[in-house]
Amino acid sequence: MEDLKQIMPKKLGFGCMRLPVANGNSEEIDDAVFCRMIDRYMEQGFVYFDTAYPYHNQKSEEAVRRCLVERYDRERFLLADKMPVWLVQNMEDYSEIFERQLARCGVTYFDFYLFHAMNKTRVEETEKTGGFAFVQRMKTEGRIRHIGFSFHDTAEALEEILKNHPEMEFVQLQINYYDWESENVQSRKCYEVAQKYGVPVIVMEPVKGGTLANMTGRPAEILKELSPEASFASYAIRYAASLENVMLVLSGMSDEQQLIDNTAYMREFRPLDERERAAIARVVEELAAMPTIACTKCRYCVEGCPKKIPIPDVFEDYNMTVQFGINETNRGSYRRHTADGGSADVCIRCGKCEGQCPQHLPIRDLLVKVAETFAE
Ligand code: SF4
Ligand code: SF4
Repeated sequence: MEDLKQIMPKKLGFGCMRLPVANGNSEEIDDAVFCRMIDRYMEQGFVYFDTAYPYHNQKSEEAVRRCLVERYDRERFLLADKMPVWLVQNMEDYSEIFERQLARCGVTYFDFYLFHAMNKTRVEETEKTGGFAFVQRMKTEGRIRHIGFSFHDTAEALEEILKNHPEMEFVQLQINYYDWESENVQSRKCYEVAQKYGVPVIVMEPVKGGTLANMTGRPAEILKELSPEASFASYAIRYAASLENVMLVLSGMSDEQQLIDNTAYMREFRPLDERERAAIARVVEELAAMPTIACTKCRYCVEGCPKKIPIPDVFEDYNMTVQFGINETNRGSYRRHTADGGSADVCIRCGKCEGQCPQHLPIRDLLVKVAETFAE
């Protein structure tokens, strides 16, 4: 199998899921800004673009065609796209969706093609509907250069896929220093499984959806002591890129400033040194010591709630405010989690949830705090 790490000239990929938009409308991608960002990125020797069917309400692929594909020779960039496996009912759907994606992007092949957001259940469904055979056939026909998958599940489930599908050439994982030891995300464990199988890793969410770019308090001071100029995001991206088996780190760049920042330290990539590693370890310790709600996200409390409050999700949003201060990232996450009406302030204090909680959390009182925190 070709050594994929060799075909990546630089370790920073351009994620096309949070592109610059006009009028705050996620479907209205600002082509002028996107074109300028692409030019600046390419000028510096970066080549990898990552899009997907659902990004920007299905408008990202077409923006990639207009701003990248129609303006640069096809050989000058690497393009990754993903099969939305949740939309597939039968074998024919693979072909139909794939052709649509090629047309939307205006290309005849994808350099990298992934099954999108795989987990244990989706792998089983993809096996049943013939998805693995489909991508291999596309590879034989030269319409896909390299096949892999993005993944959100346990390390155990990842091992199962890599054992059963040696044809998978790479895996895209959520890796960042905050989630490295997390039992939910299992960044470290998943990374180690990929390493064991000799499958190179593409990193997604290195800055945890922007969270690690917004440090406050002691964690911010620790990083500023290292260098007053370096951005907080730079440590998160370089942390992921410093891992030996990582071939690329994706950054969903939304404006020119982010692009200038990301490319500045990834142009001539320098792995974290001992001093920087020690500082990040201290940041992680400081964050862990903060008074967050000790919810394990088991979700036992959710089902019986008459107000349909997504309790563990709003607790997580609250925890983010404790660790990183209240900011647009955690406000946005809270808005998304409660979009169906289950915000913390609609709790009627019936207490049903507390009887289910193995951690014996005082959920009702905690929800009052959550509601106060996110009150506009
Ligand atoms: S106390 Fe509040 S959160 Fe708990 S079940 Fe009742 S309404 Fe839902
Ligand atoms: S039952 Fe308790 S620990 Fe489990 S998700 Fe609900 S609040 Fe969190």
